[in-house]
Amino acid sequence: MKLRIVYDNEAKEGLKSDWGFSCLIETGNRKLLFDTGASGAILSQNMGQLGLEKEELEFIVLSHEHWDHIGGLDAVLHPNVMVYIPRSFTRGTKNKIKEKAAEVFEVTGPADIISGVHTTGELGTELKEQSLVLDTTEGVVVLTGCAHPGLGTIIETAKVFGDVYGVIGGFHGFDKLRQLDVLKKISPCHCTARKSEIMAMYPDKAVWCGVGEVLEF
Ligand SMILES: [Zn+2]
Ligand SMILES: [Zn+2]
Repeated sequence: MKLRIVYDNEAKEGLKSDWGFSCLIETGNRKLLFDTGASGAILSQNMGQLGLEKEELEFIVLSHEHWDHIGGLDAVLHPNVMVYIPRSFTRGTKNKIKEKAAEVFEVTGPADIISGVHTTGELGTELKEQSLVLDTTEGVVVLTGCAHPGLGTIIETAKVFGDVYGVIGGFHGFDKLRQLDVLKKISPCHCTARKSEIMAMYPDKAVWCGVGEVLEF
């Protein structure tokens, strides 16, 4: 299982940073894109720099309907891609995706996407969001978009798929930082309000997040 950050508020040299998030998941020879950042132009530029073409994507999973996660979608949709969205997405967005994708799956509860890649299902009340749960030899790794439903709630839900080894993605306003003590790998990305504090708190297990970063499990 290999994760590559392709869109984030921070970036390695030669790649473009911007407010938003997108992460490529590779398992065996299958590729899934989780979220698409805010701008299709920036997403395409970063993917190009990293040697990725949209046609390689078998699945696109969208965490929630915020512009900084779905804004780049047009740049990566293609006629063979399957798209997983929370059922609560607006009709307008759903129809736009259906026009350009092979198939759209509307997620409600926890489910398997492919072998080793699961969704928590849509969580939260007003703004619903799904997170991914990835099987690794060490336990499951949780991948979040913005974590609007609360990182604690997302981690609790992920436990149906196994012991949680790590968490990667936007943690938003998450502030019960001590809940991270039990994890073995932490990579705070995108909108994580307390990113620098988390990085300093866990020097042995925190991994910097930004475009171009690769995490392998
Ligand atoms: Zn958001
Ligand atoms: Zn966001």
